[in-house]
Amino acid sequence: MTTKPPLRAAVIGVGHLGRFHARVYSELPDVELRYVVDIDPVRAASAAQQYGGEPLTDHREILDDVDIASVVTPTHTHHPIARDLLDAGASILLEKPMTMTVWEADDLIQIARNRKAALQIGHIERFNPAYRAARDLIREPIFIECHRLTSYAFRGTDVSVVLDLMIHDLDLILDFVFHYPPPSIEAVGVAVLSGNTDLANARLHFPGPGGRTECIANLTASRVSPSPMRRLRVFQRDLYVSMDFLQKKVYVFRKKDGIDPARLDPQQLANLSGLSGDLALGQLMDIREMSVAGTDALKDELSAFVAAVRNGSPPPVTGEHGRRALATAVEIDREIQRFLTARFGEQGPGPARGERE
Ligand code: NAD
Repeated sequence: MTTKPPLRAAVIGVGHLGRFHARVYSELPDVELRYVVDIDPVRAASAAQQYGGEPLTDHREILDDVDIASVVTPTHTHHPIARDLLDAGASILLEKPMTMTVWEADDLIQIARNRKAALQIGHIERFNPAYRAARDLIREPIFIECHRLTSYAFRGTDVSVVLDLMIHDLDLILDFVFHYPPPSIEAVGVAVLSGNTDLANARLHFPGPGGRTECIANLTASRVSPSPMRRLRVFQRDLYVSMDFLQKKVYVFRKKDGIDPARLDPQQLANLSGLSGDLALGQLMDIREMSVAGTDALKDELSAFVAAVRNGSPPPVTGEHGRRALATAVEIDREIQRFLTARFGEQGPGPARGERE
């Protein structure tokens, strides 16, 4: 039996998130972390010291010496770096949002196809154990509510909060309502600290046959919030699922068998109305907390990427998946711009001029 040599790996960009990629590659069997690359030589050297690999400052030096690479640089650099690597035949894990524009995304998908290289996009919430536990319960959602709020981190601000944070929830929603045509969109947003949209709300109407709205998704994302939250709730006719990605908890609510609120007798209702909200609800609904395995989502994500490269199978989050989330995010940003222009004139999404001057 012949054993294959380990995959030669690199991480491009070892800032906040890239260091974690380097750690995981250094721990994965079957992978040799060969390079850590950052235009900041101090960061490259520090990552190399901690996780191994040769520190470099220019990804173009490694093109003929890697099989796989994670691209974990600011979004505006994704397209040129990913293009160089794919062109050289390397498979890549490209962080989200995959690119700044849909044109750039299409370009990378095409190159990956031509070079038969794997292109996986870093939509890590697909590997969040709470999503994995709940995914199979989601069948015909009618209403979806997402909240993704963080404090201001001074990173990711080369793009709006829609491309930075909301895109995680867009990817999840499009994972389970993929069969619908593109939604119509209403959106509002405001720039608070970054000069780019920092707080946004979007309402997506997914049309069914005949153009009727079949499902509505309401998404709020903020990177200027004092308290973090990453929650997605799905309402269906038969049940309601609440996923908390931060706490890694899932609750499922179902109406109890035989309960018909229209037929509850007055004495039953009088008894229930004397109970506290939770207890009363418990009489009418089955409320179950699902067990959620405590896994390392980044390790699962990179292991799935390595397995796809090894087996020559499509990665779990493809370039096409990244592209559809990006296309929706770009459209939301356009809607925000349209809203602000209609509301305030040509000044765009920045702080209201009258308030600043
Ligand atoms: P960061 O600013 O902490 O790190 C980026 C690093 O890239 C820096 O060290 C910088 O010096 C380096 N860099 C910039 N240009 C480079 C180039 N041309 N070549 C090599 N290195 C270069 O940013 P971050 O928070 O780590 O985010 C990086 C990427 O990861 C972004 O695309 C962001 O959207 C994404 N991200 C994804 C998640 C997730 O949940 N999947 C979370 C955070 C960030």
